[in-house]
Amino acid sequence: MTIAIKFEGNPTMNNPNEARVKCTQCDTIHTLTLETEEVDRTERQMGAEVQYDTTGEVDCGCGQEITYIQSEWEYPEGSPTTSDKPVVTGGTLV
Ligand SMILES: [Zn+2]
Repeated sequence: MTIAIKFEGNPTMNNPNEARVKCTQCDTIHTLTLETEEVDRTERQMGAEVQYDTTGEVDCGCGQEITYIQSEWEYPEGSPTTSDKPVVTGGTLV
């Protein structure tokens, strides 16, 4: 199934719009829908440095909450510079 996602971040960012995670408590696999948005902007010498966070979350049937977050930066705007590894709590990427 294809899920249409509206990215609020810069379209040059190469984020996936889905992530598959496995619950650490019951091993159920969930597909998270991810959304990217600008969370920080700093004016610097070459222009704006912009931070984008890509996040998703799901409540597993066992009561566990699984969250996903990945931060990326552009400097100047439009030029990706740094990309953190995704951080998943309550589950693991599969
Ligand atoms: Zn679970």
